[in-house]
Amino acid sequence: MTARNYTTLIQTLKQEYRQHSPRSAQLQTQAGQVLVDGGSHSLRLIDPFPPRVRTAAGAYVVDEDEHQILDFWQGHYANVLGHNPAAVTKVMAEMFSKGQGLQTGFVEQNQAELAKMLCAQTGAERMRFTTSGTLSTMYAILLARAFTGREMVMKVGGGWHGAHLWGLKGVHHHAGFEQVDSVGVPSELAKDVIVTNFNDSARLEEDFRENSNQLACFIVEPVIGAGGMLPAEKEYLQTARQLCDKYGVVLIFDEVVSGFRYRAGDVGTLYGIRPDLVTMGKVIGGGMPVAAVGGKAAIMDQVSRAGGQKVKFSGGTYSGHPASMAGARAMVAYLIEHEDEVYPRLAKLGRVTRARVMDVFEEAGVLARFAGESNEVLPDNSLCMLVFPRRDDCNLNSPDDILNPEVCDIPLGDEVFKLAMLLEDVHIVHGLGALSTAHTLADIDRLCEAYRQSLKRIMV
Ligand code: PLP
Repeated sequence: MTARNYTTLIQTLKQEYRQHSPRSAQLQTQAGQVLVDGGSHSLRLIDPFPPRVRTAAGAYVVDEDEHQILDFWQGHYANVLGHNPAAVTKVMAEMFSKGQGLQTGFVEQNQAELAKMLCAQTGAERMRFTTSGTLSTMYAILLARAFTGREMVMKVGGGWHGAHLWGLKGVHHHAGFEQVDSVGVPSELAKDVIVTNFNDSARLEEDFRENSNQLACFIVEPVIGAGGMLPAEKEYLQTARQLCDKYGVVLIFDEVVSGFRYRAGDVGTLYGIRPDLVTMGKVIGGGMPVAAVGGKAAIMDQVSRAGGQKVKFSGGTYSGHPASMAGARAMVAYLIEHEDEVYPRLAKLGRVTRARVMDVFEEAGVLARFAGESNEVLPDNSLCMLVFPRRDDCNLNSPDDILNPEVCDIPLGDEVFKLAMLLEDVHIVHGLGALSTAHTLADIDRLCEAYRQSLKRIMV
């Protein structure tokens, strides 16, 4: 597809969207007077305004303009069972009715039961909970640096591990991934972050060789989320494990997106590779703010009394929050118990959705592809990023291609289709988003019809 200037089209779509959702538009103006850009998470704050959502159930949310919006954002990809699943809400409603849930500041039993399940499902020996994936990856890196006594952190270009100081380099493609993506990061610290390529074992070996004496950890997502929903090649993760063993580097699998998305546990297990530390979040919380760091006792115990509390991962006011622990325990228990139903269903929905949506774009003669199509370990993927390559023969196996505006038409997926689909009451992120067991084949039909209508608007 040739580069196109979307300025006029976007203006038209915004105008139609204002007419489509007048109440959300009005509420955004009011919110913008007190909240930065009208909210607290930039990705949610669609330009010119997001739908302001009142209620949510299953595959749908209802906004202040009474639209029933078919949602593929699904709680930042967390909701594998859809919004407000009964498996969690029933347990929580009952808990609150008994005067439980807000006994913040005490330890209760759900936390230990949850940790027990997570350790059993991931092979981690110890676990500690936090309130966000960001904190979990930050603490994992701190643990690795303390354990090795080394400074440097290696990550993958296009990998998003949350907005902490080690996470803010190499996220967006600025003709490469070498830049720090925020002002304010100490320059010395940014120098300690090395950015390597995803699914590129030769480059990984070279980067390890060059920095081996100073390298504390390699943090990588077995399925890279923001970088394209791409499963890593098995050989790449095997190489990472071997290099970490060879050079005494801590291997961290960031499974904040992939944990409990493809099986009731970590994805490292499917690859047959055990990291030294694993981070999880999103799905395991069941809609509550729960994340975890787990891994080898020798590394985790640097936090413990026996380990001299060398690493200050002492927790925060809301870590292990009773209501969150109850929600997370209910979700994780449900997923373990229903593993044989949930994951084949997600896989099938992913397969069907990808095929049907591709048909729509082929019929329209518009070049589009799903990133993260398949691999030997994960043949089906319920996380779907739809991209618009500029040429038919592009390799879409790495964030270097998917997030590179020279290779893919990023505004078309992220802005133009997003607005056009909202006019059809379908909410997509990065071209599409996440499927849940609450989505039905009828919803996929509706999605396809929305793409068809959007194409009519866009391809004029
Ligand atoms: N790690 C990965 C792979 C993520 O995708 C994210 C968030 O999207 C994070 C960490 C940060 O998690 P949170 O948003 O819960 O802080």
